[in-house]
Amino acid sequence: MVAHAPRRASEVTGVVGWWHTPDVDVEEGAVLAEVLRPDAAGIAAAVRILRRGGVVGMPTETVYGLAADALDPAAVTRIFAIKGRPADNPLIVHLRSAQELERVVAATTPLAEALAMSFWPGPLTLVLEVGEDVPAVTTGGLRTVAIRVPDHPVATELLTAVGRPLAAPSANRSGRPSPTTAEHVAADLGDDLEVVLDGGPCPVGVESTVVDARGDEPVVLREGSISREDLRSIVGVRSRATAAHDRTDVQASPGTRYRHYAPTCALEIAASADAASRAAELAASGISVGLVASCPAPEGVRSIARFTDAPDLARQLYAALRDAEDTAVDVLVVEAVPEVGVGRAVMDRLRRAAE
Ligand code: AMP
Ligand code: MG
Repeated sequence: MVAHAPRRASEVTGVVGWWHTPDVDVEEGAVLAEVLRPDAAGIAAAVRILRRGGVVGMPTETVYGLAADALDPAAVTRIFAIKGRPADNPLIVHLRSAQELERVVAATTPLAEALAMSFWPGPLTLVLEVGEDVPAVTTGGLRTVAIRVPDHPVATELLTAVGRPLAAPSANRSGRPSPTTAEHVAADLGDDLEVVLDGGPCPVGVESTVVDARGDEPVVLREGSISREDLRSIVGVRSRATAAHDRTDVQASPGTRYRHYAPTCALEIAASADAASRAAELAASGISVGLVASCPAPEGVRSIARFTDAPDLARQLYAALRDAEDTAVDVLVVEAVPEVGVGRAVMDRLRRAAE
């Protein structure tokens, strides 16, 4: 069992590769992450590792995933060990296309089909009754399985080449912010991982929306980049277009029980109009203050990230949290965004980090 305490990127020395070409075959048991260009040779190297039950870093449109063969219990066990993830926190199974759904579920529903048709490939995860080929370790022992079809060319290519469903939780050590670049993955997991495919920065930046799709109406289990407004635009016409869409069934989503990323600095969420003045006020008391806001940082405050709107903050959020730690600010002030669209997921992640 690999169980490391979360570390800072700056403390990690195991990262040796950047744009390595995989001309040297990755040896069994090698534990220095190589960041590979996702060309034919890079994909082939990742496929070789996956076929022998190994684990690779894979870009998706949401965040980087730690991928292994979802139907191979030993491979999936490796994911849990590397992440230090509790065994009862199930993984999302990634498919190349909706046509593969039958490989992993016992039964689909009209709701799941409608949602898949509208949002796949994309950042929507559907929870359905699990099929018999999926090992219990993948689902944390649940009778349901979470599935999605990612919308990222490198993920699609890898899923196609390997020809197996891939379980892929976020590729961070449990308790760290999710990784949105290949460097983040290498920094967190560099010495337990052979290969990270570099797909550049993730275009969405927050995790997928998880919905229970077994009934007539979607039940949101985790907020994500597909918003409730997006869901309603598809299923609002179906049966009662009611508050059922607004239920958040926390019990049914094991992952939301766990303590989430807690930065080493204090995190304060400020209303849009107050963020800069609050940061300046804190800095005037002599502490080191960072700001993530839509406005420039006032004098004496370090600008950690500047964003234009909620989707832009979503893209930059996790990198900003890592930067705030690396620059050792005492307090990070983050400007709140309106809780509509992806803003709801962003505020959810911010509140968890600020807890
Ligand atoms: P991650 O892969 O780290 O983005 O986390 C996956 C999320 O999906 C966690 O919050 C899990 O609890 C949730 N999840 C995965 N499988 C299921 C399932 N069968 N039922 C409910 N939630 C699930
Ligand atoms: Mg995660």
